[in-house]
Amino acid sequence: MLPAAEAEAKILSLVSLPAETEQVSLDAALGRILAQSIPSPLDFPHWDNSAMDGYAVRYDDVQGAGAGTPVALTVTETIPAGRSPTLPVGPGQAARILTGSMLPAGADTIVIQEVTRREGDRVLVLEAPQPGQFVRRRGSFCRANDPLMGAGLPIGGPELAVLAAAQCVQVPVFRQPRVAILSTGDELVSPTTPLQPGQIVDSNQYALGALVRRVGAVPIPMGIVPDQPQALKAAIQLALTQADVILSSGGVSVGDFDYVDDILADLGAMLHVRSVAVKPGKPLTVATFPAGQGADRLYFGLPGNPVSALVTFWRFVAPALRQRSGLGEGWGPMFVPATTRHGLKAGGQRETYLWGRLESTPAGHWFELASGGHNSGNLINLAGTNALAVVPVGTTSIPANETVRVMVVG
Ligand code: AMP
Ligand code: MG
Repeated sequence: MLPAAEAEAKILSLVSLPAETEQVSLDAALGRILAQSIPSPLDFPHWDNSAMDGYAVRYDDVQGAGAGTPVALTVTETIPAGRSPTLPVGPGQAARILTGSMLPAGADTIVIQEVTRREGDRVLVLEAPQPGQFVRRRGSFCRANDPLMGAGLPIGGPELAVLAAAQCVQVPVFRQPRVAILSTGDELVSPTTPLQPGQIVDSNQYALGALVRRVGAVPIPMGIVPDQPQALKAAIQLALTQADVILSSGGVSVGDFDYVDDILADLGAMLHVRSVAVKPGKPLTVATFPAGQGADRLYFGLPGNPVSALVTFWRFVAPALRQRSGLGEGWGPMFVPATTRHGLKAGGQRETYLWGRLESTPAGHWFELASGGHNSGNLINLAGTNALAVVPVGTTSIPANETVRVMVVG
């Protein structure tokens, strides 16, 4: 049994980075990963402009202004946003300006309208500004040809704003990893099949498909594979032709019908991980394939128990998929310290993950253990889970109100 941290490091060392990129439209770029640095096509701001509503002035004219010594300037024109100034501002002159409007030639400072009084075509400045005040200088946010954003950045709302502002309407992104999902087990049926005695619904197919999508990869549902070596072999071979990463659940324990590891060996795969010292999720197979047969493919054989399958996905598969998707940083799980509301129990032999909810309050993070049985076959009390409390090896109990490390999964 590999310790969790060693298994994680091993897995991440096996992940190949995405080689393929594609162009997607701005509308389709949300959630994708930028594949190239984007050079700015122009200066930001594009021209000197005003940060406030007020008057564009020459600092030299108004440096002595005060409540008792107002400075009168002649207003040459009004410059609304979206139009070029038509006149320069000469000595003794000012232009009425609105937020975002271009600064007229000759002006170097903005006086906000709150410290002025308008009298016909004159304006009285009642307070001296700082030199250059409220002028946003051309290129002060980003200069043309400087990088706007680097490769590896996930595209969310702010990044879309930057791409749109730069008129980058075709966005270079990494191709998303394709993830085949196989459910192994003679007992499994689809949610629409009436259950016969001994049968259960293949819920892992849905859970894993959802989690794959959540990390920005594309699930390829490959259905239920019976516990027959030949059927399993054929399913894995088919998956190798369609996916970058293959996830199977079930069939990796030491039972009579657990064939995954044997079939992988039969296919010439290298088995790098076979079990990890975590609970739930001890049986976990990680394999790669020989050159010519999908050398850049990664195989995860997850345990069949629904909770074990999810915990191993969150702990080991999700970081690998995020790394494979080209994310530059932050692919590892997020751990935060929290105060547990309930006492937590563990066996002490394996790193133990207890599911529940992380609640963030002004007084800090709290961990609320899910009520009901904490065994790996109980998927019912998983609903609502957004965090797993981690009880380290060697610890058998953490009392209520003590600090526990929590892995955020929501
Ligand atoms: P296994 O790892 O194949 O021994 O399966 C362990 C347990 O998980 C058994 O009780 C299975 O019935 C259950 N199980 C296996 N695969 C699935 C699945 N796809 N969906 C829900 N439960 C499963
Ligand atoms: Mg099975």
